[in-house]
Amino acid sequence: MLKTAEEYVQGILSGDRLTLARTITLIESILPIHQELARDIVDKILPQTGKSVRVGITGVPGAGKSTYIESFGTMLTKMGHKVAVLAIDPSSTRSGGSILGDKTRMEKLAVDENAFIRPSPSSGTLGGVGRKTREAMLVCEAAGYDVVIIETVGVGQSETTVASMVDFFLVLMIAGAGDELQGIKKGVLEVADAIVINKADGDNINRAKMAAREYETALHMLMPASVNWSPPVLTCSSLYSTGIEEIWQTIGDHREAFTKSGEFTQKRKEQSLEWMNFLVEDGLRSWFYLNPEVARLLPGLRAEIGMQKLSPTAAADKLLALLDK
Ligand code: GDP
Repeated sequence: MLKTAEEYVQGILSGDRLTLARTITLIESILPIHQELARDIVDKILPQTGKSVRVGITGVPGAGKSTYIESFGTMLTKMGHKVAVLAIDPSSTRSGGSILGDKTRMEKLAVDENAFIRPSPSSGTLGGVGRKTREAMLVCEAAGYDVVIIETVGVGQSETTVASMVDFFLVLMIAGAGDELQGIKKGVLEVADAIVINKADGDNINRAKMAAREYETALHMLMPASVNWSPPVLTCSSLYSTGIEEIWQTIGDHREAFTKSGEFTQKRKEQSLEWMNFLVEDGLRSWFYLNPEVARLLPGLRAEIGMQKLSPTAAADKLLALLDK
């Protein structure tokens, strides 16, 4: 039996983890009745959202993301914060697995009562997964989580999706792997608010420091995204929990600089507008392809294009003309 939206809202606002988890399940559901209920809940909790520090983390598999989040997250809960960890994993659709699917990756955090870990939604397009994660983030905020971490693997377009929903975007790297090996694209460096060289421990410390200097030089050659912030390059060891506090400090400095200059509010506002644009475009796309006439004509038009009997422009015109009817 489904509870009412009000019952869900009450559960969420009182910090009930089970209701929180169930709400995210509703958000992820493909059933229209669940989606409608989820929309209603998200609308109702909206005034209670937006108060968390939203941190995005990316890095290739093996960079140490889960070890980092375990160390960073437990430090934060010890400081009295409530931490939610969500994920966007574009590869999960293909492999059937998901980056946070295996909770043992964060053993301590998984049993920490002040932490909430949610694996990546296991199906859908990147846009769809992004939407679910964004709404899950809002629900976590309403449930009192004051730090929300969104993890993604450094492949495809997922970094930009995550960067567009967080306040601070952190790129985790390791020394000596080389840019290509780490799959780091220039576009990712452009949206990074900090680069962190992980595994700066044991024999690796000097190599990590050297890599940090190289990335500093690389960053100097880029135009900073904001006049109020020059992204620093830091080193840490997630395994031995060193350098982790400095990263939290950096996130705090960034927030302070952005709040003082007014850029914080501006950035959140732009992200909301961008989000609305995305939803409209996404909605238009599915509305269009669900149109029965479009569905009926599309295969024939495709075939005609294939046989070079019709130009793509003429085919697109024919399809779009259907919407006027
Ligand atoms: P992910 O795929 O990015 O989530 O990476 P993991 O967190 O699973 O880490 C990959 C491997 O690197 C594991 O064997 C970790 O124990 C190891 N690792 C992660 N962080 C560190 C670190 O700071 N120092 C060292 N020496 N090893 C680390």
